[in-house]
Amino acid sequence: MNKSRLATVWLDGCSGCHMSALDMDERWIELAGLVDLVYGPLVDAKEYPENVDIVLVEGAVSSEEDLERIQRVRERTKTLVSLGDCAVTSNVPSMRNRFPVSVVEHRAYIENAQLHQQVPRQVIPRLLPKARPVHEFVKVDVFVPGCPPSANTIYFVLTELLAGRRPDLTEKTRFGA
Ligand code: SF4
Repeated sequence: MNKSRLATVWLDGCSGCHMSALDMDERWIELAGLVDLVYGPLVDAKEYPENVDIVLVEGAVSSEEDLERIQRVRERTKTLVSLGDCAVTSNVPSMRNRFPVSVVEHRAYIENAQLHQQVPRQVIPRLLPKARPVHEFVKVDVFVPGCPPSANTIYFVLTELLAGRRPDLTEKTRFGA
Protein backbone atom coordinates (compact mmCIF):
# COMPACT_ATOMS: atom_id res chain seq x y z
CA MET A 1 0.00 0.00 0.00
CA ASN A 2 1.27 3.47 -0.92
CA LYS A 3 1.68 5.66 2.11
CA SER A 4 0.62 9.30 2.08
CA ARG A 5 3.31 11.92 2.40
CA LEU A 6 2.75 14.03 5.52
CA ALA A 7 4.59 17.23 6.46
CA THR A 8 4.35 19.70 9.29
CA VAL A 9 5.43 23.34 9.11
CA TRP A 10 6.18 25.74 11.95
CA LEU A 11 5.69 29.42 11.12
CA ASP A 12 5.07 32.09 13.79
CA GLY A 13 3.72 29.92 16.60
CA CYS A 14 4.87 28.78 20.02
CA SER A 15 5.27 25.11 18.97
CA GLY A 16 2.29 24.21 21.16
CA CYS A 17 0.40 22.86 18.16
CA HIS A 18 3.32 20.57 17.34
CA MET A 19 3.45 19.51 20.99
CA SER A 20 -0.23 18.64 20.77
CA ALA A 21 0.44 16.55 17.67
CA LEU A 22 3.16 14.74 19.62
CA ASP A 23 0.57 14.05 22.29
CA MET A 24 -1.05 11.58 19.90
CA ASP A 25 1.52 9.28 21.51
CA GLU A 26 1.10 5.64 20.43
CA ARG A 27 -1.34 6.66 17.71
CA TRP A 28 1.74 7.83 15.78
CA ILE A 29 2.68 4.16 15.53
CA GLU A 30 -0.66 3.43 13.88
CA LEU A 31 -0.21 6.46 11.61
CA ALA A 32 3.27 5.30 10.68
CA GLY A 33 1.59 2.49 8.75
CA LEU A 34 -0.33 5.07 6.72
CA VAL A 35 2.01 8.01 6.28
CA ASP A 36 5.62 8.90 5.73
CA LEU A 37 6.58 12.01 7.69
CA VAL A 38 8.66 13.77 5.04
CA TYR A 39 9.24 17.23 6.51
CA GLY A 40 8.90 19.23 9.72
CA PRO A 41 10.64 20.06 12.99
CA LEU A 42 10.42 16.39 13.98
CA VAL A 43 12.45 15.12 11.01
CA ASP A 44 15.76 16.10 9.49
CA ALA A 45 14.77 17.18 5.95
CA LYS A 46 16.16 20.63 5.18
CA GLU A 47 14.11 21.43 2.07
CA TYR A 48 10.33 21.21 1.78
CA PRO A 49 9.85 18.33 -0.70
CA GLU A 50 7.67 18.00 -3.78
CA ASN A 51 4.46 15.96 -3.85
CA VAL A 52 3.34 16.25 -0.25
CA ASP A 53 -0.18 14.94 0.34
CA ILE A 54 -1.04 16.63 3.65
CA VAL A 55 0.65 19.43 5.55
CA LEU A 56 -0.21 20.67 9.03
CA VAL A 57 0.76 24.35 9.29
CA GLU A 58 1.25 25.90 12.73
CA GLY A 59 1.56 29.64 13.19
CA ALA A 60 0.80 32.93 11.51
CA VAL A 61 2.62 34.39 8.53
CA SER A 62 4.75 37.08 10.15
CA SER A 63 7.97 37.48 8.21
CA GLU A 64 9.21 37.56 4.65
CA GLU A 65 10.66 34.10 5.28
CA ASP A 66 7.26 32.77 6.45
CA LEU A 67 5.66 34.14 3.30
CA GLU A 68 8.21 32.55 1.02
CA ARG A 69 7.86 29.23 2.86
CA ILE A 70 4.07 29.08 2.82
CA GLN A 71 3.99 29.83 -0.90
CA ARG A 72 6.44 26.99 -1.57
CA VAL A 73 4.45 24.70 0.74
CA ARG A 74 1.24 25.50 -1.12
CA GLU A 75 2.80 24.83 -4.51
CA ARG A 76 4.06 21.43 -3.41
CA THR A 77 1.11 20.15 -1.32
CA LYS A 78 -2.32 18.72 -2.10
CA THR A 79 -4.09 19.40 1.21
CA LEU A 80 -3.05 22.29 3.42
CA VAL A 81 -4.37 22.28 6.99
CA SER A 82 -4.26 25.49 9.04
CA LEU A 83 -3.56 24.02 12.47
CA GLY A 84 -4.42 26.09 15.50
CA ASP A 85 -5.61 29.61 16.19
CA CYS A 86 -2.35 31.29 15.15
CA ALA A 87 -2.59 29.79 11.67
CA VAL A 88 -6.36 30.31 11.45
CA THR A 89 -6.67 33.85 12.89
CA SER A 90 -3.09 34.97 13.64
CA ASN A 91 -4.01 34.91 17.35
CA VAL A 92 -1.02 35.60 19.63
CA PRO A 93 1.42 36.82 16.94
CA SER A 94 -1.13 39.47 15.90
CA MET A 95 -0.75 41.19 19.28
CA ARG A 96 2.03 43.21 17.70
CA ASN A 97 -0.17 44.37 14.81
CA ARG A 98 -1.24 47.63 16.38
CA PHE A 99 2.36 48.83 16.46
CA PRO A 100 4.65 49.64 13.54
CA VAL A 101 7.40 47.09 12.97
CA SER A 102 10.04 49.68 13.91
CA VAL A 103 8.44 50.10 17.34
CA VAL A 104 8.24 46.34 17.89
CA GLU A 105 11.89 45.89 16.93
CA HIS A 106 13.00 48.78 19.12
CA ARG A 107 11.14 47.30 22.07
CA ALA A 108 12.57 43.80 21.56
CA TYR A 109 16.14 44.52 20.58
CA ILE A 110 16.94 47.83 22.27
CA GLU A 111 14.63 48.66 25.18
CA ASN A 112 14.53 45.09 26.52
CA ALA A 113 18.07 44.05 25.62
CA GLN A 114 20.73 43.79 28.29
CA LEU A 115 23.60 43.43 25.79
CA HIS A 116 24.35 44.38 22.18
CA GLN A 117 21.47 46.77 21.80
CA GLN A 118 20.85 46.88 18.09
CA VAL A 119 18.24 45.68 15.63
CA PRO A 120 19.65 42.68 13.78
CA ARG A 121 19.48 43.06 10.01
CA GLN A 122 21.42 40.11 8.69
CA VAL A 123 20.32 36.81 10.22
CA ILE A 124 16.80 37.55 11.46
CA PRO A 125 14.02 37.39 8.82
CA ARG A 126 12.40 40.76 8.18
CA LEU A 127 8.97 41.11 9.72
CA LEU A 128 5.97 41.82 7.53
CA PRO A 129 3.98 44.90 8.57
CA LYS A 130 1.46 42.63 10.30
CA ALA A 131 1.18 38.97 11.36
CA ARG A 132 -1.67 37.53 9.32
CA PRO A 133 -3.48 34.18 9.07
CA VAL A 134 -2.30 31.65 6.52
CA HIS A 135 -5.43 31.83 4.34
CA GLU A 136 -4.75 35.49 3.56
CA PHE A 137 -1.73 34.38 1.55
CA VAL A 138 -2.52 30.93 0.17
CA LYS A 139 -5.54 28.68 -0.24
CA VAL A 140 -6.30 26.65 2.89
CA ASP A 141 -8.21 23.37 2.57
CA VAL A 142 -9.00 22.61 6.23
CA PHE A 143 -9.21 24.97 9.21
CA VAL A 144 -8.57 23.50 12.65
CA PRO A 145 -9.12 26.07 15.42
CA GLY A 146 -7.87 25.62 18.97
CA CYS A 147 -4.96 26.84 21.06
CA PRO A 148 -3.76 24.25 20.62
CA PRO A 149 -6.16 21.80 18.96
CA SER A 150 -6.22 18.65 21.05
CA ALA A 151 -4.33 15.50 20.09
CA ASN A 152 -7.71 13.81 19.58
CA THR A 153 -8.73 16.51 17.13
CA ILE A 154 -5.47 16.30 15.19
CA TYR A 155 -5.79 12.53 15.02
CA PHE A 156 -9.37 12.86 13.80
CA VAL A 157 -8.33 15.35 11.10
CA LEU A 158 -5.52 13.14 9.87
CA THR A 159 -7.50 9.91 9.83
CA GLU A 160 -10.44 11.55 8.05
CA LEU A 161 -8.18 13.04 5.40
CA LEU A 162 -6.35 9.74 4.97
CA ALA A 163 -9.72 8.04 4.48
CA GLY A 164 -10.50 10.53 1.72
CA ARG A 165 -13.06 12.46 3.74
CA ARG A 166 -13.26 16.15 4.64
CA PRO A 167 -13.16 16.33 8.47
CA ASP A 168 -16.26 17.84 10.06
CA LEU A 169 -14.94 19.69 13.10
CA THR A 170 -18.18 21.28 14.18
CA GLU A 171 -18.29 19.46 17.49
CA LYS A 172 -14.60 18.70 17.85
CA THR A 173 -12.91 22.01 18.51
CA ARG A 174 -13.37 25.73 18.93
CA PHE A 175 -11.26 28.85 19.11
CA GLY A 176 -9.10 29.10 22.20
CA ALA A 177 -9.92 25.59 23.39
S1 SF4 B 1 -2.46 28.21 18.40
FE1 SF4 B 1 -1.82 28.33 20.54
S2 SF4 B 1 -0.60 26.47 20.85
FE2 SF4 B 1 -0.74 26.79 18.60
S3 SF4 B 1 1.07 28.01 18.08
FE3 SF4 B 1 -0.58 29.47 18.50
S4 SF4 B 1 -0.33 30.02 20.68
FE4 SF4 B 1 0.84 28.14 20.32
